[in-house]
Amino acid sequence: MKILIKNARVYDPINKINGDEMDILIEDGVFVDKFTNSNGIYEIDCKGRILMQTGIDIHSHIAGGTVNVGRLMRPEDKTIVWNRNGDIRSGSGFSVPSTFLTGYEYALLGYSFVNQPITPPLTAKHTHEELQDIPLIDKTALLLLGNNFNVASFISNGEREKLMDYVSWMLNATKTYGIKAVNPGGFLSWLWKMERISVHERIPKFDIKPSDIIKALEEVSNNLSLPHPFHVHLNYLGYPGNYEVTLESLKIPKKRMHVAHIQFNSYDGNDWNSFSSSADKVMKEINKNKKISIDIGQVTLDNTTTMTADSPFEQYLYKLTGMKWSSRDIELECGAGIVPYIYSKSRSVNSIQWAIGLEIALLSKDLDRLCLTTDHPNAGPFIRYPRIIAWLMSKKFRDETARNIKLPEKKTILFSIDREFSIYEISQITRKSSADILGLKSTGIRSAGRADIAKYDIREEELKNPERIERAFSNAEYTIIRGEIVVKEKKVVSSKKGVTFYSKREIIDESIEKEIETFFRKRYSVGISNYIVEYPNIMEVK
Ligand SMILES: [Zn+2]
Repeated sequence: MKILIKNARVYDPINKINGDEMDILIEDGVFVDKFTNSNGIYEIDCKGRILMQTGIDIHSHIAGGTVNVGRLMRPEDKTIVWNRNGDIRSGSGFSVPSTFLTGYEYALLGYSFVNQPITPPLTAKHTHEELQDIPLIDKTALLLLGNNFNVASFISNGEREKLMDYVSWMLNATKTYGIKAVNPGGFLSWLWKMERISVHERIPKFDIKPSDIIKALEEVSNNLSLPHPFHVHLNYLGYPGNYEVTLESLKIPKKRMHVAHIQFNSYDGNDWNSFSSSADKVMKEINKNKKISIDIGQVTLDNTTTMTADSPFEQYLYKLTGMKWSSRDIELECGAGIVPYIYSKSRSVNSIQWAIGLEIALLSKDLDRLCLTTDHPNAGPFIRYPRIIAWLMSKKFRDETARNIKLPEKKTILFSIDREFSIYEISQITRKSSADILGLKSTGIRSAGRADIAKYDIREEELKNPERIERAFSNAEYTIIRGEIVVKEKKVVSSKKGVTFYSKREIIDESIEKEIETFFRKRYSVGISNYIVEYPNIMEVK
């Protein structure tokens, strides 16, 4: 297929293109300088409207056990319903959309890639089943290891080489892309009735601390040269006063670490009454610590569904809210909890949480280390990204929202920040930074590069109008993935499959497999042969 896009206003930070007006040519899935011949060219006249590479989401819970339990737990969440229309399938769900709807909604936002941030090894098959079912977008999934019994044992016994082989075996078996830890050591301690654990406290039954787990897994991730750095949800997430634990944790990595949804870890105060923002203290450290990259986890002030492998925190949230709660124990690997949550516009804690996320973005001095997320669906659904873009681009709009939700002025510094993001900067935090941090080797809008682009129905002079921004970015006029039109004139027109990528690693000492097999026979409810993921559309990343 040949596509000619004329008069586009292009924003592509990967190639430092900042609003140049240009024609874009696509043939056989890639950008080209000229067509092989002039037959069958599909023409789109942009008339100066904005065009970017497609969006990349570094942290969004779209598939697997917790997501599916979330769907089952929340029939009241089905406020969005799509009916079947020809080849476009039906779907439903606001904070936990069904698989097909997830793919369609991302394509409508102009996105083409999502990183599923947790995959308990034992339920990797379920995660992949759902990832396969989500159309249009490409994906990766991270392997959850921060509370794994074997990982904790190897670290505690000082068996670093064995740990490395174990992680390689797990990546190969579960077809995952990188390593993740959620509240490292927190679940292991919770099993022994410890409600929460800080980075330098001892984990019961293992002679190690959460900081040892972070250190060891970061080292393994580096030694295996995984494309994406060790990805962590820090200890004490969601508690007032947790910023001190955050600052301690940021000192641990030797080379690189990605800290997820840092909004939830930037809290000051001794309790919920004295709760306030510490985004300035956290960002002061992150701005100078180049080993750390972050995503925001912006609160969108919606009725949503929280879901995390941080089971202790979900128990705490359940006690706090009295909402329904699901808690699971995934054998010797991890836990998982789900609690619905309403970020209320009239509750000051929620309005401060909303302000903290925006402060983090607005105080960032290196946008190549910052990614836009809502930790979907934890702080809000991903379909709200366009509203967050409008808040970041317009001080007037965020001040208006802050006044409407009665944001307490003394608890945050948001009112004093004048910064407004440019559309180039928005493109940085929704495309370039995520692509770089995920190690996707994206070449942006450049000849021979993969043709993934989104055209939005908005001109540069309309970027002062937040309502226009939100509307335009909520519904791309065209989304083109691998050179194929999947959104045409603001409608989804394709259900084609995407690809899931994984990292394959060599095992140094093959005897690890025998050891794992024995462990399975003794301790697991499934045999090792039932554990290994083998599906089509999963590709090794080279
Ligand atoms: Zn998350």
